[in-house]
Amino acid sequence: MNAPIPSPVARALKSVADLEAARLIAPEAAPSLGSIGEHYAIAVTPAVAALIDPADANDPIARQFIPDPAELIRLPEERDDPIGDAAHSPVPGIVHRYPDRVLLKAVHVCPVYCRFCFRREMVGPQGLGTLAPSEMDAAFEYIAGHPEIWEVILTGGDPLVLSPRRLRAITERLAAIDHVKVVRFHTRVPVVEPARLDAALIEALKASGKAVYLALHANHPREFTDDARQACARLVDAGIVMVSQSVLLRGVNDDVETLALLMRNFVENRIKPYYLHHPDLAPGTSHFRLTIEEGQALVAALRGRISGLCQPAYILDIPGGHGKAVISASTIANEGGGCFTVTDFRGNAHNYPPRSE
Ligand code: SF4
Repeated sequence: MNAPIPSPVARALKSVADLEAARLIAPEAAPSLGSIGEHYAIAVTPAVAALIDPADANDPIARQFIPDPAELIRLPEERDDPIGDAAHSPVPGIVHRYPDRVLLKAVHVCPVYCRFCFRREMVGPQGLGTLAPSEMDAAFEYIAGHPEIWEVILTGGDPLVLSPRRLRAITERLAAIDHVKVVRFHTRVPVVEPARLDAALIEALKASGKAVYLALHANHPREFTDDARQACARLVDAGIVMVSQSVLLRGVNDDVETLALLMRNFVENRIKPYYLHHPDLAPGTSHFRLTIEEGQALVAALRGRISGLCQPAYILDIPGGHGKAVISASTIANEGGGCFTVTDFRGNAHNYPPRSE
């Protein structure tokens, strides 16, 4: 018997009961998910709910947002703060890991909660919340007092959940700091709540005199609905430069066809593929994690298949806050004496000669 077709949902689904009522989880599955819902936030927007095929037990959209009993399995190597934000936070809301840039985490709320989230212990209604006005003042004072800060990256949480008024207050304060040249937003809103990107919100993202970038987090080509494509077009047409970030996820995008289509979707929508993240050691997420070797094989397969414009950097956030490393050891090996062995996309090894004197 076919599963009943769920009705369109009108508001975000924020509990196991909501998901059950919308028929996105089966009634018999609900009891085993209750304790997950108590610990890790749940939110599925109407746009995302409409993308889920409840008849497909392996639906790649559902897998990203619908709780799974596997989240109760916590492995010893998993960490509450896998990329070590806390170790580099001089004042609340600021993470200063690299000399020339900081994260500004004004809010720890998201329109959706990804089941693999690397900040899942910090985001959500029980998370770190929104910075108080005095904490925002201290964060801006920190940025203004460090002339080496060239770029401010608004993340969290998803900064685009803020109202245009509150976003404008942030971008105006950043615009007034001379040494900040680049403002970057990390968000999922264009794909999970595209209607939110109206003229007022897009205008509020512009920081006068600064280059404004927006990194769109999307993991599967089906996330590029017509509404999402139009939202991206509005951003790009407004002069905002878009780059991508995706997480390599088992059961979502861990095959070369899906990854190739995802990267092409970015480029077709004028979004430069930027980061493909190896999944972090977040608690209860081992069912999403590939091995680094599996990730390297997928990234190598992409190289021969799609344009150079479509290639992302495959990135590992080194656990403990040591920053990002490009995973590329599979392609180039130092043989000593200035010689390298370079492997092409077919797996053939080539010598790269040392420089002649
Ligand atoms: S949108 Fe980002 S911060 Fe929010 S739950 Fe997803 S991965 Fe985590």
